[in-house]
Amino acid sequence: MFARNVNRFLSRRGARACSSSGGLSPAVLGVGGLAVVGGGYMMMSGGATTAKPNNYAENWKSSMERCIVRRILADKTGEEIDELKTRKTPHDWTLDKLTIVGRKHGHRKAGVYCGDAETYDVFEDILDPLVKEFHSYDIDNNKQQPEDYSPVTLDTIPEGAEIKSTRIRCARSVAPYPMTVNMTKEERVEFESMMKEIFSEFKGNLKGKYYGHTSTSKERLDQLVQEHKLFCDDDEALLDGGCYTDWPHGRGIFMNDAETFIVWVGEEDHLRIMSMKKGTDVQGVFDEFYSGVAAVDKGLQARGKSFMFSEKLGYVNCCPSNLGTGMRASVHVYLPKYNTKAKVAAAIADSPLAGRVQARGTHGESKNTDGSCVYDISNYTRIGSMPELIKDMIAGVVMLSE
Ligand code: ADP
Ligand code: MG
Repeated sequence: MFARNVNRFLSRRGARACSSSGGLSPAVLGVGGLAVVGGGYMMMSGGATTAKPNNYAENWKSSMERCIVRRILADKTGEEIDELKTRKTPHDWTLDKLTIVGRKHGHRKAGVYCGDAETYDVFEDILDPLVKEFHSYDIDNNKQQPEDYSPVTLDTIPEGAEIKSTRIRCARSVAPYPMTVNMTKEERVEFESMMKEIFSEFKGNLKGKYYGHTSTSKERLDQLVQEHKLFCDDDEALLDGGCYTDWPHGRGIFMNDAETFIVWVGEEDHLRIMSMKKGTDVQGVFDEFYSGVAAVDKGLQARGKSFMFSEKLGYVNCCPSNLGTGMRASVHVYLPKYNTKAKVAAAIADSPLAGRVQARGTHGESKNTDGSCVYDISNYTRIGSMPELIKDMIAGVVMLSE
């Protein structure tokens, strides 16, 4: 129901109540004495040149080179930044809230968190170029398809790579809630209760148990974190972004009896749905993962809810890095040739897989696990088809293991 509304919202190009200043720019109005310089307009007055300075993109923690939104905003005039600051989404998301992770954290490439599905429309002129660059994907000339959950045959990882474990996850947000970074405590608890009901209906290999952060012992939660199964509240970027507001309420993990199929409730997105197993069985992990996503989808639809989806962006999530399929397929792999993650990243950057494959440490995106020579190698972009994105991950593993 809401997914359709989001579609309409996202396709209403140029119909924003508070559109960008393009329509009112002095150049368009034909005011004399204007020169276009770089991205901004400068006023020529009696030989002197004045323009409202744009200080917005100064003094960020993330570098101009890495952080896409910083670069996009640096290209604006002071007047354009003023106009951007007047915009508000239906759930009160603003420019300052949108950019907080880019301003305060160095490692974020997108540098933004969206507070609701409508953020992608209200800040479309900022986020469209960001999405195109992040995913190397032409969103204007492609339509995204919702998953139909029919069987998929995947490539396998060739012998030779020393794979410890395989994990495939997707991010999913649920309409009509605002994103997790922007939920009230009541909304978090209500959402968790609905998910608990859905989990209790799972059958066969998906059947299992929900462990809420408020109702599970600290020892058990710590153990699940150590086993790479559970998230905790220790990522500074997620903290500043709002992912841990009202922690631990409304947070928890569902696991099937085999502890291979897992759903996180209330981390960076409403849901992270995943399967993970020791070894290298990408097809087996994918099949379980995909059947689990279908089961969650069915449970939501039975309650009049749905995954946020738009034909333009695919599945809509809090960070634009997780649009499209929202899928990250990763392996933990032993790469003895590389003793730091930076060296793995440099090898990827120097290869044809630059921008398509990512290296992380083995304890989550922001933690350093240098020294072990075990890395998390995954697809980098998420827009496209799941089998194609899994091919990127496999190509990365093959190249780095040679
Ligand atoms: P994501 O953002 O995809 O959820 P993170 O980098 O935040 O991934 O990591 C979340 C958790 O998942 C971490 O504990 C990490 O070790 C674990 N993880 C990711 N990939 C694998 C894998 N292939 N095998 C085992 N654990 C994994
Ligand atoms: Mg993460």
